[in-house]
Amino acid sequence: MNVKEQIKIGGGDYAYMKINAGEHIRITALEGPQVADLWAFDASDTNIFLSAEHTRSTLEKLTPSVGDALYSNRRHAMLTVMDDTSPGTHDFLMSACDPRRYELLGHEGYHKSCAENLYKAMDDAGATAHELPSPFNTFQNVKVRNDKSIAIIPPKVKAGQYIEMRAESDLLIIISACPMDIADTNGPDGKTRPIQLQKFSQ
Ligand SMILES: [Zn+2]
Repeated sequence: MNVKEQIKIGGGDYAYMKINAGEHIRITALEGPQVADLWAFDASDTNIFLSAEHTRSTLEKLTPSVGDALYSNRRHAMLTVMDDTSPGTHDFLMSACDPRRYELLGHEGYHKSCAENLYKAMDDAGATAHELPSPFNTFQNVKVRNDKSIAIIPPKVKAGQYIEMRAESDLLIIISACPMDIADTNGPDGKTRPIQLQKFSQ
């Protein structure tokens, strides 16, 4: 596999990438703990997108791991996890952060968010987001307790670790290096760090 495209996404920023069936994407936490929200849309119809609830119910798992597919809202496999050098802690339960989330956390004024990053990236790609799907929150550490309560706790991913996925159809991929600097999403130090997005093909 050869690197076909490589983008370094600053902490809090976003990027899009078009990938064809059979190509791989690799998402790397370049400098340490950092969550990368991932969305995938069908390249020819953005009404078809990666769906958290369809993936959970098809896999009967809270989050996919190596060998598992991630499914669309039409329940077709869109991506397959091929490799994961991180501790495998990813989240498919939580919504993307959005302006209201920062307001609820007490932030005043403008704050970047993954939801806005999605819309900006779709704009940049010349595509339309008909709705805001739940992202696959790579490297996000969500604890599910016995009493069914859930909490976002600091990520376990270390610098240089990555998750790699194969596209099962032609896709538009959006990544947001989550701008969260209030909750523990990216770690307790309130810092965001860069994410590397690479595309590989034969
Ligand atoms: Zn976020």
